[in-house]
Amino acid sequence: MADHHPFLYYWFAFLGIILGRYFLVAGGTHLLIHSVLKQFFVDREISIDPPVWESIRRDIKLSLLSTVIFALSAAFSIFEFDRGGTFLYTDLDKYGFWYLGLSFVAVLLLQDTYFYFLHRLFHHPKLFKWFHLGHHLSKHPTPWTSFAFDPAEAVFQALFLVAIVFTIPLHFWTAIAIIMTMTIWSVLNHLGFSLYPKSGYLSWWGQWTIGPAHHSVHHHKCTKHYGLYFTFWDRLLGTQDFNN
Ligand SMILES: [Zn+2]
Ligand SMILES: [Zn+2]
Repeated sequence: MADHHPFLYYWFAFLGIILGRYFLVAGGTHLLIHSVLKQFFVDREISIDPPVWESIRRDIKLSLLSTVIFALSAAFSIFEFDRGGTFLYTDLDKYGFWYLGLSFVAVLLLQDTYFYFLHRLFHHPKLFKWFHLGHHLSKHPTPWTSFAFDPAEAVFQALFLVAIVFTIPLHFWTAIAIIMTMTIWSVLNHLGFSLYPKSGYLSWWGQWTIGPAHHSVHHHKCTKHYGLYFTFWDRLLGTQDFNN
C-alpha cells in the first residue's frame, strides 16, 4: 500500500475485482448446480428449476450497475486510506488478534441490523418501485440475483461499507473477510432451493441464521424474512414465518 494512485486507477481496478468476484462466485455456483452437482441433487430429491435466461440476463444487467456503484465506494475508501482518512489498518499487532474476530462479528451484526431496517423501508409502497423492485423481479432467485440491486438500493448498501471504514478500525484482512462472507452468504441465500433436509432447520444454526429456504420465502412473500445473515430481527419484530 506504499504506492498512492489516482482515484480513477482504483475505480477501474475495483470494477475488475468486483465484477470478477461476481462472475466467479455467482457464475461458479450456477455452473456447479447445473452440472457437477446435478446428480447429487437428483439423488437427494432436491428439485432445481432449469435456468430462466431472461431473468438471469436481467439480474446480470442490474449487477453490472451495482458493480459500478460498489467500485466507486471501494475506490473512495482506498483513496482516502492512502491519505490517512480511514480507520483501516495493516499492522496485525495494532489491536491484537482477538480484535480481528471481534471486529468481524461486530460488523456482521451491524450490517445485518442496517440491512433489516433499510430492507423494510424499501418495501414501503412509496419507495419499493425506486429502491427495490429490480431485486424482486426474480420471483425464483438464482445466484445471479445475489448482487442484482436497483442503483438507488446499491448506493445505500455501498454507503454502509464506506461508513464502516470511516468509523470502525478494521484490519485489511478483516475487511476482505467481511466482503467475502457477504458475497458467499448472499449467493447461498439466493440458491432458490433448500440446502438441507427440513429437519436441518430445527438445529440452532438453522433457526438463527438465514439461508436459501428463508430468503426464498421473502422473494415469494414480501412481508416476511427481511434479514441478511441472522433471523434475530425477524423474530423480534414479528416478520419471521415460522412455517419456513
Ligand atoms: Zn425485499
Ligand atoms: Zn433476495
